[in-house]
Amino acid sequence: MEFISSEKGKRKLTLNGFMYVRDKTKKGVTYWRCEDYLKCKSRVSTSEDDILMRAPSEHSHPPNSARVIVARAKASMRDRAVKSDERTSNIIQSETQDISLATAGALPKKTSLQRMIQRKRVCPEGNGLMDELRVTPRGEAFVLEEDDQNEFYMFASQKNLDILNNCANWFCDGTFDVAPLGYQLYTIHALVNENATATHIHRDREQI
Ligand SMILES: [Zn+2]
Repeated sequence: MEFISSEKGKRKLTLNGFMYVRDKTKKGVTYWRCEDYLKCKSRVSTSEDDILMRAPSEHSHPPNSARVIVARAKASMRDRAVKSDERTSNIIQSETQDISLATAGALPKKTSLQRMIQRKRVCPEGNGLMDELRVTPRGEAFVLEEDDQNEFYMFASQKNLDILNNCANWFCDGTFDVAPLGYQLYTIHALVNENATATHIHRDREQI
């Protein structure tokens, strides 16, 4: 039995290739249900000291050890993203190098792992932007404007600007969910043949 933290910081329990999410905790006993609980009725319970109290009931599906291995690797990547300043690509490389070819198919795409790691990293105080955020994955310059106080960044490649320039309608939206703490992500989208492109602008919360 092992506990793995999810992307939202919740604990998941893994046992024999199955994964469980917490259902409820009552009088010190935590009741877990199979991650596929809509289709599967398997349950398991643990004590306050994380000791298995009741062995899991039968699952309606086979175990999926690849899923467990991937969940564990992703949890380690998030942990390293927060605790170290290693490059994103190094973290992904080192956490996936021992994963077998058969399991690798269950890994998310590299771009989504990169995004997951970057979401975990807050913008370093006073040091400005990390180098890997200054260029697009294709190596194009991506920072259009930035102020001296690291409070405002405007991101766009030249291609993004050309697309905006050629579009009569822009769509704008702001969110705090995916931005580092204290920042808002403000995006400008333009519709191009049903494909959207975006200019990204980070702004300090105070300036809005
Ligand atoms: Zn199940």
